[in-house]
Amino acid sequence: KESAARREIQELPSELISQIAAGEVIERPASVVKELVENAVDAGATSIEIRIEGGGLKRILVTDDGCGIPKEELGLALKRHATSKIRNLFELENVTSLGFRGEALASIDAVAAVSVQSLAEGATRTWKIEGGEVTPAAGTTRGTRIEVRDLFYKTPARRKFMKSETTEAAHIADQVSRIALANPQVSFRLWNNGREMLNLPASPDLEGRALKILPSRLEVNHRVVDMEAGSMSLVGIVGLPAAAKAKADAQYLFVNGRFVRDRVFAHAVRAAYQDVLHGQLQPSYCLFLTIAPTEVDVNVHPTKTEVRFRDSGRIHAFVQKAVETALAPASASAEPTVAP
Ligand code: ADP
Ligand code: MG
Repeated sequence: KESAARREIQELPSELISQIAAGEVIERPASVVKELVENAVDAGATSIEIRIEGGGLKRILVTDDGCGIPKEELGLALKRHATSKIRNLFELENVTSLGFRGEALASIDAVAAVSVQSLAEGATRTWKIEGGEVTPAAGTTRGTRIEVRDLFYKTPARRKFMKSETTEAAHIADQVSRIALANPQVSFRLWNNGREMLNLPASPDLEGRALKILPSRLEVNHRVVDMEAGSMSLVGIVGLPAAAKAKADAQYLFVNGRFVRDRVFAHAVRAAYQDVLHGQLQPSYCLFLTIAPTEVDVNVHPTKTEVRFRDSGRIHAFVQKAVETALAPASASAEPTVAP
């Protein structure tokens, strides 16, 4: 019997495919900023400037001094599944760059008006791509400048989910702070409607950068974490109980330079505090776990804030021990420890 509701199967037009895919990666203006700033870090930038207007919905402009994109590749940069970062499965499993899926710029392009301008390393002039057209542009400094206008104008349903400009701007500042924590050697500046929100000069070490971003109470109330075991290491700072707070809003975890939300990692840190922090108080911390790329799968979700560890039990035990050691009273003046 034939169903009246039945419609024939058809392949979706490519623009719609891109818009559907973009929904996963680009949730709000802060997602755009994350992708653009991560690209700048991957490009080896030492200075990254971000200007936003209208909470990023009206305009996002990210300028970097990285390696740039050659004129011939400007079109490819905006194409889906086009990347300079991996070539094969082996490289995927050993990936050390923040990007590798080759879909961020394409996704942004599917839901906003994008222009990419770049002076590539070794090139003699600046080129720009906008609306599919590559033209010469002004500019004499090496690097890339990406402008994103009118986010979600093509997808009004998504636009309706946006919060106030102030809320979106705060999410953007969070996102930039996370990337800045993992990249202290890079300077970051962020302006919203011309007003400075963040100014983070390059810092010689993780501790210096972390203390600029974490609550100021940590300055005198923190311990340094620094432990190594084989190919694993955990470094960073943990707040002492005196700096604990009611909200868990200064807890930053990174795996191989990538900000993550991970239950195993977070649980291990919390477990290390069990004897020193009671009740509902929340510790502040910023911790960087480094493990072999083959020990962790970062390709779990398009935004890559979720990871999967091959041996989560081992990670849990190591993290808990490293944080406990740092928090132990005796470690106040102790040297960095090396686990057996
Ligand atoms: P991915 O980062 O996963 O490779 P993207 O869509 O974010 O994918 O970027 C596509 C490509 O464009 C990158 O692989 C890179 O070669 C280039 N690119 C993007 N942004 C920059 C930048 N700021 N500087 C230099 N190259 C860039
Ligand atoms: Mg990218």
